Amino acid sequence: MRKKIFTFVIFVLLISIFFNLGCSKKEKIPENPKIYMIGIDGADWGIIDPLIKQGKLKFFKKLKEESAWAKLKTFKPTLSAVVWTSIATGDTMVKHGIVDWLFVKENNIKVPYSNAEKRVPSIWEIFDSYDESSIVLHWFVTYPPDHIKGVVVSDSFSVAMSEVFFSGKDYKKFEDTVYPEFYYYKLYRLFKEDIVRKGFDYKKMVEYLEIPDYIEKYKKEYHKETTKGIPILSNWRRYILKDFIAEKTLYYFLKKGRNYNLFLWYSRMPDVFKHFGSLFMDRNYLKKIKKILADKQTVSDSLDREFETKMAPVVEPILKHKEKILKAVYEKAIKEHAYVFILSDHGFTLGPKGYDHHGLPKGIPAPDGILMILGPGVKKGKEIKASVLDITPTALYLSGKPVGRDMDGKVLLDAFDFKRKIKYTVYKKSKKVKGKKNKEINRKIMEDLKTIGYI
Ligand SMILES: [Zn+2]
Repeated sequence: MRKKIFTFVIFVLLISIFFNLGCSKKEKIPENPKIYMIGIDGADWGIIDPLIKQGKLKFFKKLKEESAWAKLKTFKPTLSAVVWTSIATGDTMVKHGIVDWLFVKENNIKVPYSNAEKRVPSIWEIFDSYDESSIVLHWFVTYPPDHIKGVVVSDSFSVAMSEVFFSGKDYKKFEDTVYPEFYYYKLYRLFKEDIVRKGFDYKKMVEYLEIPDYIEKYKKEYHKETTKGIPILSNWRRYILKDFIAEKTLYYFLKKGRNYNLFLWYSRMPDVFKHFGSLFMDRNYLKKIKKILADKQTVSDSLDREFETKMAPVVEPILKHKEKILKAVYEKAIKEHAYVFILSDHGFTLGPKGYDHHGLPKGIPAPDGILMILGPGVKKGKEIKASVLDITPTALYLSGKPVGRDMDGKVLLDAFDFKRKIKYTVYKKSKKVKGKKNKEINRKIMEDLKTIGYI
């Protein structure tokens, strides 16, 4: 009898283990999950992978292991404004209408492309058409902000704040950089508290961002009194302020934002840093590379990889700090059973102009960006093929909405261990924003583009 009871207990145990395993394997796929898109301009596996290998960037490693990831294919002209608009619309530039940094307006005046020139809806406008709310923070080409359900802190907001806090401009002039304007004043007060009352000057911001003081580093390593001749470093304080603002806004809305379905955040780093960061590499090595480029205009793939492995420790502090942000988003998203897209618009490669991503000759393709998709039912650690055009269709699919029939991208079905029927529809722009003349902001944007060497 005893033996019989024992066998029965073992049998019940085995059955329950079997069923439990079966259940835990099948993750519940939410019907209408939240979607997070975290944009890190210029992030590149060529830099991240060697650092992961060396045991650094532990959180990036964890994310890569838990995500379906890709070398994200991108297109020429690899200009950030063009590509980030493709990411947010699922369309090539021919369809979305943002084809360069600047265009010529009446009387031959060059002005930066604005949100008013977009010909197709961005993903937050599509969510709005379903009465769903979005939080859009600092995304490229979002000024003037769309009047959607939710909040848009346009890419001109941080430009405006640098004008207010560094050039003493009247803060009331820039309230239209945020929609609804109520949040402009909220955020302005938040930064006034930090910058004026808590005395967040450049040095304190650098400490907050946990990166070296590159101005001092440059002066010390090159025995210089000033940063003259290095345009990005001469404007570095403004870039730091913008990064500081971008980060604080992210935490503000992660904490305060409620009832949103879509959350987009964009950071200009590491792109800006990578445009001049090679200054801090071994100088003899840099000389050697410059000589090869002067002779041949290009380098072999293996030399490009070697260069990036040597560049990786230089970029590390910038990426290391981004891990903190990614962790905050990740922890919130896990609790919400949400999806997270972590991505960049392009990587960098060696070309005639040095380590760069635009203005590359015909033989050098646009350097891939990064993509990691995390969330319920994602094939963990699986490498997939993906392009910048596939992000919006995939996000719509996951959130249970039809994909735009004429979108140029496709749903990344390979990333998931489940499959739903893909529905299609045609999305049109319903509320068009009017272009605005904000001369001060336009002038600052042009200055910035010149600083980086884009125009
Ligand atoms: Zn970019």
